Amino acid sequence: MEAVLWLCCRKLLAHQPRALTQHTRCLSSCAGSALKSSPARSVGTSPLLVSRLFQPSTLREVQELGMEGRAGEIPCKSQRLMLQAGLIHPSNPGCYYYLPATVRAMEKLVRLIDQEMQGIGGQKLDMPSLCAAELWRRSERWDLMGKELFRLRDRHGAEYCLGPTHEEAVTELLASQGTLSYRQLPLLLYQVTRKFRDEPKPRFGLLRGREFYMKDMYSFDTSEEAAHLTYQAVCQAYARLFARLGLRCVQVQADTGNIGGKLSHEFQLPAEIGEDRLLICGNCTFSANVETVEPGKTDCPQCHKGTLAESKGIEVGHTFYLGTKYSHIFNAFYHNDQNKPVLAEMGCFGLGVTRILAAAIEVFSTEDAVRWPGLLAPYQVCVLPPKKGSKTEELAGLAEELCHSLGTSVPRLKGEVVLDDRTQLTIGKRFKDAGRLGYPYVIVVGKSAAEEQPRFEVCCQQSGETLFLSREGLMDLLSEVETV
Ligand code: ATP
Ligand code: MG
Repeated sequence: MEAVLWLCCRKLLAHQPRALTQHTRCLSSCAGSALKSSPARSVGTSPLLVSRLFQPSTLREVQELGMEGRAGEIPCKSQRLMLQAGLIHPSNPGCYYYLPATVRAMEKLVRLIDQEMQGIGGQKLDMPSLCAAELWRRSERWDLMGKELFRLRDRHGAEYCLGPTHEEAVTELLASQGTLSYRQLPLLLYQVTRKFRDEPKPRFGLLRGREFYMKDMYSFDTSEEAAHLTYQAVCQAYARLFARLGLRCVQVQADTGNIGGKLSHEFQLPAEIGEDRLLICGNCTFSANVETVEPGKTDCPQCHKGTLAESKGIEVGHTFYLGTKYSHIFNAFYHNDQNKPVLAEMGCFGLGVTRILAAAIEVFSTEDAVRWPGLLAPYQVCVLPPKKGSKTEELAGLAEELCHSLGTSVPRLKGEVVLDDRTQLTIGKRFKDAGRLGYPYVIVVGKSAAEEQPRFEVCCQQSGETLFLSREGLMDLLSEVETV
């Protein structure tokens, strides 16, 4: 049936491109009739149904049947769990489909990032991914980047690369605004876009891709001191962001790599799978990427008392003070209070958006259950109605109504509640699924909801507690849930 519909749709499109809306209508009405007997005709305010979510999970099969599937052999926990939980699907090396639940989590992360970046005055823009070779030749990075750049030519033979970062582009943009005044600085411009890097070893799922999302911010200041203040403000915003995610992040001194510049820090999440090696002093605040420390050194260069302990980390953010390296090349001036042109002092600040998602899963999850930072969970609440044919079957309506009223009377939960309508499965099976997918709150509408004073069983993932709450108690608990 689906195949027939698809064929009919292709024919329609091939001959009459303008019939698209007509066809869409036909498709949905056909689909509607096919689902007539099912409660799954969710439109408008109906609850989101698990049976309709495109999240092809194999977590249960892997556990229960001891499946030796390919994903089961992957040593990187976040990569394996994300594949098994239907969060990502591989396409080609270092490239993944981000499935709907991942996109929801990523949108939440981006909203948090927006809040923090705009909180320090950041303004969001969006720069082209196709970057002219000419710009990259001017900074000499066209050659310096070597094989890491994805290069291509247009129909006229002009050369481009797919942007791996945007120092050149943003500085050129600024330089083209001849009238910038010191009164407009500091200027903080940022974007959240796909970046392309032909990594030698793409691996570990979203931790090291060849195509990934990055938040990159570029700052322009009037002086070195002002640029340092901006630098501190961004580091503090990063620290707040990671704290809100519940992630323990270490800020370490770092190498400036091919970006260049004078001062640099990485934000590292301690984890065994991490590809960076960190040295952390047991006595003072000193922490560094091993790359920046003299080889073999074990005593702390800051306090000279403590010893340096090595651990592994995942780099989730990177900050650079660039000075005038790029403003000099691209002539990015501002006019000072005497109306004289002065080179802008720059900084650049990256956050690995998709890497943060995977890294959070890496540090929070167990071997067989996904755990999210509360704020990023794709859905906050999963409601489980009783099994079809069971004694409490008549509570199905109550479960559905509960979903509806949660979504309407707790505004923050709008769109955050799903109903696991796969009632051919026992509550126990669906409860396990919900646990493995990591919904922060799982509500069972079972036996105790049929009692004279109905009680809902609520499993709070983060605290591990199970509570039996009245409807009011449940509403009170869930109205405290923070969402973004
Ligand atoms: P790495 O040392 O891990 O290769 P980098 O130092 O080259 O990273 P930056 O240029 O500092 O990366 O990029 C800013 C941020 O983008 C990094 O801190 C990281 O979180 C993220 N990032 C970089 N490369 C990748 C990648 N291949 N896949 C996913 N995220 C990445
Ligand atoms: Mg880096």
